[in-house]
Amino acid sequence: MQIASLFQKNRAVLSLEVFPPKKTSPIDTIYKTLDNLKDLQPDFISVTYGAGGNAGDTSTADIASDILYKYGILPLAHLTCVNYSRQEIGQILDSLKEKEIKNILALRGDINPDISPKKEFSYASELVAYIKSKGDFYVSGACYPEGHVDAEDIDKDIEHLKLKVDAGAQHLISQLFFDNDYFYRFIEKVRKVGITVPIQAGIMPVINKSQIERMVTLCGASLPPKFTKMMQRFEHSPEAIKEAGIAYAVDQIVDLVSQGVDGIHLYTMNNAYVARRITDCIKGIIHS
Ligand code: FAD
Repeated sequence: MQIASLFQKNRAVLSLEVFPPKKTSPIDTIYKTLDNLKDLQPDFISVTYGAGGNAGDTSTADIASDILYKYGILPLAHLTCVNYSRQEIGQILDSLKEKEIKNILALRGDINPDISPKKEFSYASELVAYIKSKGDFYVSGACYPEGHVDAEDIDKDIEHLKLKVDAGAQHLISQLFFDNDYFYRFIEKVRKVGITVPIQAGIMPVINKSQIERMVTLCGASLPPKFTKMMQRFEHSPEAIKEAGIAYAVDQIVDLVSQGVDGIHLYTMNNAYVARRITDCIKGIIHS
């Protein structure tokens, strides 16, 4: 089933994101997470892909395949391109095809100063076109409500996003944000330039202070005063910050669903407890 077709129903789509465990952690840790996520009944689960340039790493494809066959949930496999050749991407696509993974989130990947890019793919739109040329895949892409950090400005970034959609991306998932107004302004702008595909809002629950500092440095998300006050008030209590982070994410989601968002993509950070707490609070509204 293609992910874009989930949006034909008159309700918000809910998806969860997991990442393969680091090489130093046992692979089993992801299965403990998935065991705990499966009865949350997400519409799909996405699995991230390392941008590191190791085309032999099959962990994303293996986990996506288990999500499909062991857990009976639709998987979305992320795939980055900037550090891979066309031939390597072709091999990865062959292995996804073998495992019957049909939905791919096509990404450029971050530029790592320690790895020189292969220069065969410069942008995600080129990967989207390449995947489409291989047939039989459904392609999704990433988008940035506050503009991508490398982009000159939000309007230029949206011009590039249009190229990605025109190349064949049928569905978009947004970068995390903490101020819904950025998302609403973004949706208005993208619809004006003729991007009509479904767009899911990416929500990351804050579970500790260092996580949020790292994420904000990486993606440049704005922190509204309400959010920074919350962080300052609870930063010395790990339990309180987690509770406040869950409540903040729920508040964002209730507002987004009320405004008619196409879907919510929850960055679970492999924390099934937090994902469960949030889905318990929102299931009545998301499926209504
Ligand atoms: P692109 O769409 O290629 O955009 C990158 C930059 O290039 C933007 O500034 C854009 O404006 C510009 N650009 C695009 N096209 C053109 C053009 N034709 N000419 C000039 N400029 C152009 N990273 C991982 O390593 N693994 C993951 O699994 C992963 N999953 C992600 C999931 C989501 C939902 C999101 C939002 C991000 C994810 N990322 C992941 C991070 C992502 O790889 C980085 O944000 C990366 O820097 C950009 O990827 P992109 O696919 O959005 O790139």
